[in-house]
Amino acid sequence: MANDLQREGNKFCRNIFETVRKMSSDGLGVTRQGYSQTESEVLDYLRGIGVDLGLEVHIDIAGNVWMTYPGQDRELPAFVAGSHADSVPQGGNYDGMAGIVAALAVCWWMRRTHFTPKRDFVVLMMRCEESSFFGKAYVGSLALTGRLTMDDMMLRHRTEDKTLGECIAACGFNPADITAGRALVNLKSIAAFVELHIEQGPMLDGSDDTRVGIVTGIRGNVRHKVVRCIGQTAHSGAVDKAWRHDAVMATADLIHRMDLLWDERLAAGDDLVFTVGVLKTNATAAISVIPGEVTFTVDMRSLSMETIEHFHDRLVEQAQEVARERGVRFEFDTKLVTKSAQVDEALSDKLVRAAGEGGIAVRRIASGAGHDTAVLSNAGVPSAMIFVANQNGSHNPYEEMKMEDFMQGTDVLWHAVKTFDD
Ligand SMILES: [Zn+2]
Repeated sequence: MANDLQREGNKFCRNIFETVRKMSSDGLGVTRQGYSQTESEVLDYLRGIGVDLGLEVHIDIAGNVWMTYPGQDRELPAFVAGSHADSVPQGGNYDGMAGIVAALAVCWWMRRTHFTPKRDFVVLMMRCEESSFFGKAYVGSLALTGRLTMDDMMLRHRTEDKTLGECIAACGFNPADITAGRALVNLKSIAAFVELHIEQGPMLDGSDDTRVGIVTGIRGNVRHKVVRCIGQTAHSGAVDKAWRHDAVMATADLIHRMDLLWDERLAAGDDLVFTVGVLKTNATAAISVIPGEVTFTVDMRSLSMETIEHFHDRLVEQAQEVARERGVRFEFDTKLVTKSAQVDEALSDKLVRAAGEGGIAVRRIASGAGHDTAVLSNAGVPSAMIFVANQNGSHNPYEEMKMEDFMQGTDVLWHAVKTFDD
């Protein structure tokens, strides 16, 4: 009987994923732009599922959808679970949608087993989390926590001649109302927010027996969009080594030094990732020319801002050393900082205990990507995350997720809801 119910639950979730995929297909992957007609249609469809499950629907004035499964004591702050409905252009179907379907599955399960939780359980479907269309991430969650600004409304679409504010208005919401600096719901009425999300990295998928993670925190980052190394252009045959000021050699030297220092930090137990994602010589570079200029990007992330700042200091210091030794110059553009976010420790511990109760193996894991959870957590809502193994990364049309892994993660959420007040 329980197995029949599980199979049926699995089918309930698969159906939703497939319908949403069809609704937002772009031929190769899915495209659900935040504050687009597609995102609105997908939310309407999901709202219909909520109505079928008997949920009470509330749409806030930024268009985020809240669907409540009533608990025994309606006065108690609610247990909220959900994620974002949008995607990047030509992205995968599970980024965001997994967290919404998991929350719906918990409602489906409670309905089928006639279970009434102590407090309300709310499915939260947020809009426009991805930054790829307007350059601004977490628009829905920033709006609902009262942290969206009128300046954000002026951000222009990446390819079309319209602003974020115009797209929000076209969906029927008023940009002025949602940027007034007021939270759109009473944040104190949320006892816990749990976002289930695909991992988007290889850690969980690399394990045979642990396919679910409980997030320890969301990494912050420090970035430079452009670092310039300036040396001296010269003939590659006519200048011997001692006279060269080779920008490629200098940059390679710097990156290699940082790679070694990164190993040192990891050996010391720090959480740290370091990436130079773009690296290029200038337009006049040629095979027979000693390169006089290199530009590159820097992206360093950690759960600890102190670790990042320390590593950034090393970068600047090493750049000065390389510059001295090789007769080049490094120019850094403005340092861009995104703060790391804490998850609620007590709530995360509850998730680990819930997993134990459900007989599901979990491991603690840091989140490298940003999530709406960070916004809610920074606004004072006790928040935590469940990660599910997935394949082929994310933000690409080849992103995959196995239903059995998803159901395990959903089971952790369900056990957390069931045992929350024990
Ligand atoms: Zn996401």
